[in-house]
Amino acid sequence: MTRPATPVDHELVDAAAEIARTRARGELHTMAAAARDRDGRIVTALNAYHFTGGPCAELVVIGAAAAQGAYDLVTMVAVGDRERGVVPPCGRCRQVLLDCFPSIDVIVGNGAARRTLPVTDLLPASYVWADHQSDEQA
Ligand SMILES: [Zn+2]
Repeated sequence: MTRPATPVDHELVDAAAEIARTRARGELHTMAAAARDRDGRIVTALNAYHFTGGPCAELVVIGAAAAQGAYDLVTMVAVGDRERGVVPPCGRCRQVLLDCFPSIDVIVGNGAARRTLPVTDLLPASYVWADHQSDEQA
């Protein structure tokens, strides 16, 4: 089944790019992410790199959004520092996005290849955590 292409949320890309350009710093903060909530607001964040597994910008923005009461994220994008442009989410982030926001769209690609994809397209034949939890109440 093919669904019509979802337009790219350029305002969201610009928000992440602005944070990447102005706030990314050193080796600790190299990626920015921006997420749009269903209510229209945009939340931004930076990654917090650490060799023990510091969170990607996408994960930080999920927490930052929740801290602002934005729990229903509909679109996510990450942009790299040093003018690297849009960077697709890593495998861990794809799984987190799928489990936490199964209908979220993710912006990937640069130039003519920039597009908006449902997270399910980024993780075909995926493991769905909720499908494997016990129905019993603890
Ligand atoms: Zn990631």
